[in-house]
Amino acid sequence: MYGGGGYDTQPPPLQPAGPGYPDQSQQQHPATGQYFTPGMATGDVKQPLPPQPPAYGQQQPAHPQQPVHHMSNQFQNMNMGQKPAMGYGDQKQMHSLQTANLIGMQPDVRGLDAPPPPYLLPPNASVTQSPYVQPDPSYQRCTLTSMPTTQSILNKSKLPLALVMAPYRSFRESDGDMPVPVVEDSVIARCRRCRAYINPYVTFIEGGNRWKCCMCGLSNEVPQLFDWDQAAGKPADRWARKELNHSVVEFIAPTEYMVRPPQPPVYAFIIDVSQSAVQSGMVATAARTILESFDSIPNADKRTKISIIAVSTSLHFFSLPPGATEATMLVMSDLNDVFLPKPVDLLVNLEESRPALESLLGRLSDMFQESHVVGNALGSAMQAAHQLIGKIGGKIISLTSSLPTLGEGALKARDDPKLLGTSKESSLLNSASSFYKTFAIECSKQQVSVDMFLFSAHYTDVASLSCLPRYTAGQTYLYPGFNASRSEDAIKFATEFGKVLAMPIGLEAVIRVRATRGIRLSAFHGNFFIRSTDLLALPTVPEDQNYVIELQLEDDIKGAFVVLQTAILHTSCYGERRIRVITQAMPTTDSIAELYASADQIAIASYLANKAVEKSMTGSLDDARNLITNKLSDMLTVFKNQVTSSAGASAQLAVPTNLQLLPLLMCGLTKHVGLREGAQIPPDLRSYAQALLTTLPCQAFVPYIHPRFYSLHNMPPEAGTIEENGVILPPAMNLTSERLERHGLFLIEDGQNIFLWVGHEAVPRLVQDVFDLPSYGDLTGGKYTLPILDNPFNQRVNAIVAKTRELRRGVYRPHLYVVKSDAEPALRSWALSLLIEDRMDHMSSYAQYLTTVKNKVG
Ligand SMILES: [Zn+2]
Repeated sequence: MYGGGGYDTQPPPLQPAGPGYPDQSQQQHPATGQYFTPGMATGDVKQPLPPQPPAYGQQQPAHPQQPVHHMSNQFQNMNMGQKPAMGYGDQKQMHSLQTANLIGMQPDVRGLDAPPPPYLLPPNASVTQSPYVQPDPSYQRCTLTSMPTTQSILNKSKLPLALVMAPYRSFRESDGDMPVPVVEDSVIARCRRCRAYINPYVTFIEGGNRWKCCMCGLSNEVPQLFDWDQAAGKPADRWARKELNHSVVEFIAPTEYMVRPPQPPVYAFIIDVSQSAVQSGMVATAARTILESFDSIPNADKRTKISIIAVSTSLHFFSLPPGATEATMLVMSDLNDVFLPKPVDLLVNLEESRPALESLLGRLSDMFQESHVVGNALGSAMQAAHQLIGKIGGKIISLTSSLPTLGEGALKARDDPKLLGTSKESSLLNSASSFYKTFAIECSKQQVSVDMFLFSAHYTDVASLSCLPRYTAGQTYLYPGFNASRSEDAIKFATEFGKVLAMPIGLEAVIRVRATRGIRLSAFHGNFFIRSTDLLALPTVPEDQNYVIELQLEDDIKGAFVVLQTAILHTSCYGERRIRVITQAMPTTDSIAELYASADQIAIASYLANKAVEKSMTGSLDDARNLITNKLSDMLTVFKNQVTSSAGASAQLAVPTNLQLLPLLMCGLTKHVGLREGAQIPPDLRSYAQALLTTLPCQAFVPYIHPRFYSLHNMPPEAGTIEENGVILPPAMNLTSERLERHGLFLIEDGQNIFLWVGHEAVPRLVQDVFDLPSYGDLTGGKYTLPILDNPFNQRVNAIVAKTRELRRGVYRPHLYVVKSDAEPALRSWALSLLIEDRMDHMSSYAQYLTTVKNKVG
């Protein structure tokens, strides 16, 4: 309550509807509002769980913690020789399986913050006692935290088996992140046969002179300098080596890991200078942001190169010789035979040509101010940029305000409204031109990746244009109807673009996943190109991008645990060749019940989002939604019939407690703008949403399909104030409009947008305190910048908005929209569409969705 209840014109509502629901306002814990609790980021599954409320009608789920095994002497382990590889069956720890019934229960959304079930490894699975031998789930997680021993058990379980990873995720001290430990002595022990990197799960044999690979079983020699401290010139403690103590490590690679010397960071900007681009203020904002980023673009060794191409109906190159103070423009109108107008000075060293670059960017918008040119030869500009940087590799960053209509890759406005909501809608989600995929693959071969920034007020064919980032490991950013005269638009774009430019990208990267013999990688999802059967090529790697890799079992698994290892070989933007290695071990099981008890609902949701998006392109959006609901009901059928053995008709829908939010997440996914039913969603918004669904790391993906919802007018007194871990967020509420009150102030956010919902009976004092306006009637909805006022409530609301914007890793700065509860129907229904527990148009409520699933389960 604020100010002694000043904003509540009614007595405080009883919390909340329905018996048996916890009063969330009284069970707030410090982690509420943060997907990753501080400290969790560096830890592993052995971290204590954050306090969890008991599940509805259930006992406290007893996730047994992994035992800490003590060993008096590590060498004892080494000399003891191999760990028992088999015969662990009767000693295996199992998860304690708890069942929850969902029908009639309101989901406890705080469970979305919980870590996955722990990986119950056998004692001594790891050669060290380090608490860091498993990756934090933000680097890598698996849909199951136990590995089935055979494909047949996996098939019977109907559970998906896939790795969900963001191996190049960013480092945030504010999240309690620990920097990735770096092995600096260039001693890289790898298995001679399967090329796995040495890790905490290998076994030392023959007196410690050899190590046995945990993937393929081969005995390998321990490298000579493995126990030698090169810096100090004396013997070192083997057990202190980072690669034996940490799941996530980085090796500095020696020259044999290089095909060529480390490339410098290279950025080729393609800037649309057609009439709409200039008039919207995009060109001026982009130019200013590039200019202001010159000191933050990765350029530690002063080798970074820049090129600028302006495009409309012709191509404009800029010659920027070292030392010159002005740029010279060279125009090329022949779009069919693109060639570079001069061999040098078009791609220039940022340091040497900075004066000319600064001068050019300072006046770029003015140069085209009088232009009335309509048309965009984007494909030809892409070809030119490729010619410019293809020999080195790097990033093409395209800023486009209009549909490409000329030259290679010309596109048409094909967004026929009659197709929307029909089975033919999926054609609009696929590329209209083969150019974009063919060209993207060409780029990938030359170590060039493409980022697309799209600004059009009209159809811009995101489906086709997003192919370029998809196959080149780039990203698509959408600013529909961008207008820099609205400060909110300018700030959002400049902030995100600035972060993309400052990002410490990896260059010339490949990702390969190795696994214990018997495990096969069967399918790959994400932004990259599959170069050979299991080698993912990423010309540049952005931070915080998600990849999903499906696994199959081609042979039975015999050991007590398996090991999966992701290696990402890349050139850092500081000119070092590095290998980031993420090693994860999983116990094996032949029990379907154990598989269910070990399932990770967040990883499964991310996997199913990728499968559904894929299905919407190869089939229809209907097929995609059916895939989600069918997979869910298949799982719950197996759980009911084979795990709880309560076959037959039942009024209940039983799930293991660790999956009790999966139906809610799947309900959210089927109602997400990327997949939802309806004839109203512009194809560009769908395609963009699909690009995000398939690339957002879990931390951002979960709120994207299950938004956060807070009540602000009656938030607890500590909400919006600062404590040790930053601003305290109010307790998250269930996503239903039942929680909205006519006199209230609410916040709904999905990581991309923030809605501040103002009830039409909001008292004047609340409107005054938050918006500095006399009354509700004076307030106008839409994109908004909150004033900062000299009253505590305003400051707390501002603090919550600011915290929401910086809550998650990634470059996104959500827009803030003020939504009046009785005005602007389109904005209102957009905000309400995030309340996924409600019925919406002809889409079912969460309760109805559960009934649908239950009826399939029987
Ligand atoms: Zn091996």
